[in-house]
Amino acid sequence: QGKRGGDKMGRAQARARCGKKGKPMPVDQSVYPAKELCSRCGFCNTSLIAQVQDACAFLGAGMARIDQLEHTVHGRPRQEEELYFGVQDGLRPIQVAPEARTGRRAWTGVVTSIACEMLRSKAVDAVLCVSSTVDKPLEPKPILARSVEEVLQTGGVKPMLSPNLLPLEELWQVRGEDIQRLLFIGVGCQVQALRSVEADLGLKELYVLGTNCVDNPRNAEALHRFLQSASETPETATGFEFMQDNRIHVKHSDGRYERIPVFSLKEPQNCTGVIAKSCYSCFDYVNALTDLTVGYMGVPWQGGRMTEHQQYCVVRNERGQKMLRLSQSVLELGQAEELQVDGRLSRQQLLPEVLRPELDLAFGQRKPRPEPPRWLAELLSEVFTWLGPQGLDFARASIDRATLRNLVCLEVDLLKKRAGQQMELDATLPKHAKKIRSQYQELFETLLETYRG
Ligand code: FAD
Ligand code: SF4
Ligand code: SF4
Repeated sequence: QGKRGGDKMGRAQARARCGKKGKPMPVDQSVYPAKELCSRCGFCNTSLIAQVQDACAFLGAGMARIDQLEHTVHGRPRQEEELYFGVQDGLRPIQVAPEARTGRRAWTGVVTSIACEMLRSKAVDAVLCVSSTVDKPLEPKPILARSVEEVLQTGGVKPMLSPNLLPLEELWQVRGEDIQRLLFIGVGCQVQALRSVEADLGLKELYVLGTNCVDNPRNAEALHRFLQSASETPETATGFEFMQDNRIHVKHSDGRYERIPVFSLKEPQNCTGVIAKSCYSCFDYVNALTDLTVGYMGVPWQGGRMTEHQQYCVVRNERGQKMLRLSQSVLELGQAEELQVDGRLSRQQLLPEVLRPELDLAFGQRKPRPEPPRWLAELLSEVFTWLGPQGLDFARASIDRATLRNLVCLEVDLLKKRAGQQMELDATLPKHAKKIRSQYQELFETLLETYRG
């Protein structure tokens, strides 16, 4: 009886701590405030919905709010030399020590390993992360994990829009009192919404650990369509990644790995509409508002399997440092210089060639073409990997590609539909996106002319 009374008190206090509240939308809601640009981040499925106009990454000033939020979260704005990777105390190669690696993981399992150490050291009471079910390992199911065992089940990318903020409602409704210190794991659009209401969450401490993110399939049907184009056996796929060797590596439930050259996708025109529209209007590839971001694209290609390949991390503030400190017994950190490798061709030289097929796909203009023979596709992947940018420059090339493509998409098409608002594009862009555009102004204008057609 006493415990139940205590829980009730905890709930009331937690809800009182949470600011303006509204009626959560049901999870099967078909239209959200950001309409087709919605990334289904879960925010509107919580009572935080009352603050959606100020928090959503796709409404009003949208991702332009990152500039101010970076200052609030990290205590200072992004500097000139932080244009690509955001505010940082350091940028290091990282991997989980081979003897500490666990079963389910995307790469070496840095994210889940840090989450486990945060729980073990009692720095947090719970971890909000993305699990899945056994029969649908690629479909996201966000949870509030209380134990190391639960966190370990969440390893691996679920390559699909995920309502990561949804469990916050459970936090207030059921567990307000016993979860005071939380670790949130998520991608940029989710983290922006979370940071916008951080002061209203009623938490004593919030840690944010994130991954890079780009080009997420919009739902299970879209993901399946992509896998059919990439894999010989899409039904057994348990993970995939576009790797630095210009191949898509697909992991299978029977332990097989497929390595498909990006030039030999079957009927790539069928992939039109796979990527969510939110991701075509996203300018936060590096998840700038986390305390610590983990990814792979800044590491020079080392060969082998992704689950054995080094990753890299961007430490943004003292909370990020603390996460690394608490996890040092299971992590191996390298030196920043290892990520600096010069490619033979500059990313500026390659960008126009990469952007055109991407924009054709975005605008549904990709024409069916005969697939090149496999040997030729393999050769092209080898040549591009040998010639192209490496390490941090490969990461910068990826950011340039996504930024310019999205700027063209928004200018030509998507912004007109932005939740019924006619906003000037620049009013919705963070400073780093405008700076990247200015580096490629001529190319940007040529592409606009082509696709405005
Ligand atoms: P693990 O220890 O296996 O942990 C993975 C964590 O990711 C889990 O804790 C889970 O909570 C979380 N997660 C899984 N799916 C989702 C989801 N849909 N939304 C939010 N969180 C999720 N890195 C790059 O360098 N370049 C990229 O282009 C890139 N694209 C990505 C696209 C997506 C959709 C995602 C989710 C990640 C992407 N990453 C990218 C990050 C990279 O794939 C790995 O997630 C990262 O290197 C961490 O690997 P790990 O082994 O440490 O993760
Ligand atoms: Fe709501 Fe998130 Fe969709 Fe924005 S992106 S409308 S906050 S669910
Ligand atoms: Fe969200 Fe951007 Fe990732 Fe799409 S690419 S899921 S909008 S962070």
